Amino acid sequence: MVTEQLDKAKRSKGVDPRSLRLRGGHPVLDFLNTVDPRVGDPARDTDYLLGYEGLIDWCVHAGTLDASAADDLRRTARHEIAAGERVLERARELREAIHSILTASIGRSAPAERSLATLNDELARALTHARVEGAKSGLFAWGWDAAAAGLERPLWALVRGAAELLTSDDLKRVRLCAGDDCGWLFLDVSRNRSRRWCSMDSCGNRAKARRHYARTRARRSA
Ligand SMILES: [Zn+2]
Repeated sequence: MVTEQLDKAKRSKGVDPRSLRLRGGHPVLDFLNTVDPRVGDPARDTDYLLGYEGLIDWCVHAGTLDASAADDLRRTARHEIAAGERVLERARELREAIHSILTASIGRSAPAERSLATLNDELARALTHARVEGAKSGLFAWGWDAAAAGLERPLWALVRGAAELLTSDDLKRVRLCAGDDCGWLFLDVSRNRSRRWCSMDSCGNRAKARRHYARTRARRSA
């Protein structure tokens, strides 16, 4: 309950998950980028997943949950506040576990066992609700057993997406933004795999301006 009140206070100060730019190029990376920035003192970082409602808002914003499912969840959450809080805690734990696994992978080291256990625990829970759905065209697609959906529904697409990303060739394209005060992750889909920043408009331009400033100062003092 205390977290819920704190989250509400922050939201009223304008921390809105729907205002967060989606720069990861992959919903799972965008999910990790709901902490901004992700460098230095964690106490200074802003967590955009504020309250269960914030989690739902972000999932709709990022396209991992459709609007009608979100409406149903919001309605249920109003009567099950403690259950919503627990799902939010699980979402944050899952997010930090995936972040730890991916940053270890970028640094070519083994993941922490605890992080992998958190991911696999959530994956097992989500896959209980996974379904293969057939279409008239004779094709099939992954779906979810919506009838069984509780408040944890927003986690399912995220954890399955994380498992797919980790086991795909795209893993080699996951990069850490080179911006000094960023720490966001993104998928580098550039042809020569040379993208350095989550966004040229923000981190890229800031780095350029900093280099320009350093050069000008060096010239002046010379
Ligand atoms: Zn960045």
